[in-house]
Amino acid sequence: MSKIRIGIVGYGNIGRGVEQAIKRNEDMELAAVFTRRDPASVKVATEGAKVVHMDDMLSMKGDVDVMVLCGGSATDLPVMGPELAANFNTIDSFDTHAKIPEYFANVDKAAKEGNNISIISVGWDPGMFSLNRLYAESILVQGSTYTFWGKGVSQGHSDAIRRIPGVKNAIQYTVPVDEAVDQVRSGSEPKLTTRDKHTRECYVVAQEGANKAEIENAIKTMPNYFDEYNTTVHFISEEELKRDHSKMPHGGFVIRTGETGEEGNKHVIEYSLKLDSNPEFTASVLIAYARAAYRLNQKGENGARSVFDIAPALLSMKTPEQLRKEIL
Ligand code: NAP
Repeated sequence: MSKIRIGIVGYGNIGRGVEQAIKRNEDMELAAVFTRRDPASVKVATEGAKVVHMDDMLSMKGDVDVMVLCGGSATDLPVMGPELAANFNTIDSFDTHAKIPEYFANVDKAAKEGNNISIISVGWDPGMFSLNRLYAESILVQGSTYTFWGKGVSQGHSDAIRRIPGVKNAIQYTVPVDEAVDQVRSGSEPKLTTRDKHTRECYVVAQEGANKAEIENAIKTMPNYFDEYNTTVHFISEEELKRDHSKMPHGGFVIRTGETGEEGNKHVIEYSLKLDSNPEFTASVLIAYARAAYRLNQKGENGARSVFDIAPALLSMKTPEQLRKEIL
């Protein structure tokens, strides 16, 4: 059987993760890595793999079954998503939650015009967490849903600290508050504020001679990022940062509790992730959905989809018969 040919668009953390995920899925192969940089300057991990400039992408139209878009959500994907959907089947991990409806509409129009399938906002949140919120809400119709993130590195918050004068480098972890998680699991459906649910832990390398008290104050009072949280700041050396904080772990929980029946029997549904590498895990989800996109396009379907629209069996390497026999 011929393999599904994957194009990686953008070679950052997620792009490198997709390259690794392809190696672990025997029905897939890497067609090429596409980049906006000089291809000669981008060294990929797969020996002999093609690295192509994004401007030359259309020359490979017949050689790629699904493009996995690995650009950033803030500025790359809003442009790249619709542009590529016009010419290729695509998967992306667009995670600006508030802009998903608008992004979906733009990608949908382009994908329909190009007769391609595009599955948007795939990953873990949005993605696997979204699916679990949907399953839980559909089953426990009366109840409350909670999402906790972490412990994990937030790139956006780490970047915000790095922009403070006197800061050389920084990593920020989002940490769920254990007592809040326990309260939720008890089924009491508590009303929790932002401050109740998560704390923020910052590891900061200060420039020589910088005023650490000022840096700490600037972090703790930063609007939108830190002011609504209990935040702790630890000053460490560059070596300690490299040694202890260079991985990109993440994870979290989606919990729904609710009642059924006349007696109000309580139920708890919980989905949890503990990820050593956020980008490698996200990439593994993207690759499973690339298989679904390929299959839907083979059936003649087109347009945009989200994880809500994809039947689970389409994600699996196994046949529907195998799935019914082995894991139903
Ligand atoms: P990233 O490492 O910053 O990469 C983004 C883009 O920057 C790459 O595609 C690459 O494009 C360019 N780039 C990377 N390294 C570069 C370098 N050394 N020099 C110049 N350019 C470089 O971002 P990421 O960690 O892969 O994350 C991408 C997006 O994934 C995030 O914005 C986030 O929204 C999303 N995400 C979603 C989920 C989810 O659960 N849905 C989870 C995690 C992340 P070129 O090759 O074209 O230069």
